[in-house]
Amino acid sequence: MRYYLFLMILCLLAACSAVNDAEINDGPYVLKQPSHWQALWVCGGIEQRSEFEPIKKPEQIGKCNQDATLYPQQAERPELEYNSVSELAVISDIHGQAGILSSLLNAHGIIDNQGNWNFSDGHLVVVGDVFDRGPQQTESLWLLYRLDFQARAAGGRLHFLLGNHEVMVLNGRRKYLNDKYLRVERILARNMSQLYAKDTVLGQWLQSRNVLVKINDMLFTHGGLHPDLVTQSKTLSDINQGFTQNLIEGEQQRQGFARYLHKSDGPVWYRGYFREPQASEAQIDSLLEHFNVKHIVVGHTTQNQVKGFFDNKVIAVDAGIKRGKTGELLLVEKRQFFRGLLDGSRVAL
Ligand code: ZN
Repeated sequence: MRYYLFLMILCLLAACSAVNDAEINDGPYVLKQPSHWQALWVCGGIEQRSEFEPIKKPEQIGKCNQDATLYPQQAERPELEYNSVSELAVISDIHGQAGILSSLLNAHGIIDNQGNWNFSDGHLVVVGDVFDRGPQQTESLWLLYRLDFQARAAGGRLHFLLGNHEVMVLNGRRKYLNDKYLRVERILARNMSQLYAKDTVLGQWLQSRNVLVKINDMLFTHGGLHPDLVTQSKTLSDINQGFTQNLIEGEQQRQGFARYLHKSDGPVWYRGYFREPQASEAQIDSLLEHFNVKHIVVGHTTQNQVKGFFDNKVIAVDAGIKRGKTGELLLVEKRQFFRGLLDGSRVAL
């Protein structure tokens, strides 16, 4: 009797998981081979694929409402410094919340109602952590990928900076993945680090992103730059190179400066502008002076809103989008800072 009860429970559990899988639509994941490209989707919990010749012009592909625009060219690695940028929008820690991402960008005229770039020569900075936690990381990434190409074509830019969650997923650490993506891995019989490997469209794009950017008098990076970098006389290019050249590598393989940069005091993990052991204002001043900027803008440490510290020398832009309820972005116009709210209104910072 007990044995049958056990069997029944097992069957029920299997049925439950089948129902959940049947609700999963995801993708595409696009693998590039010299002779052909292959797109993989999960539709209703089942793998679907299509194969086609390498594209020669931008093309849209889609199945089960999971669309993507593909571009024939490889995404270029962006520059580290930009000057005379008139308008900026900054958002971070999207964590798989594509709905809030689109709503915020649309509410502030950065994208139109169809989700296309509408910010002319403005720059949109995404300060890391698009992966993990939420159920729409794929949708968020394809939107940002398309905006990167559309922004360039319009004379603007999208800067996607690496966060600690990009580094984790690209290196096969699945601890914070939404359960949906663990199922996608199983259905497609590939793990996320394979689905975002260098021979995939989004993997190639992500693996050629930087960890920081300087625009006008502002420096952007996911967690923050540690004051030690001033004492070590490191340049922005030293930091970016040390970080990105060792992006895909096991913890144990990274050595010296690269190892330091990928640890807790490095740019994607550091929290010392907000938490103990906390950087002093004098140390913040020395960072600003050393990198020749007036503001450092970071995500990673969640606040209840976009918030200025030390007289806006440090601006924190992770306003809790990860909770899936609300969010904010930072707008910079004529050297003035504003919080951009979900209803489209703005409040001076
Ligand atoms: Zn983070």
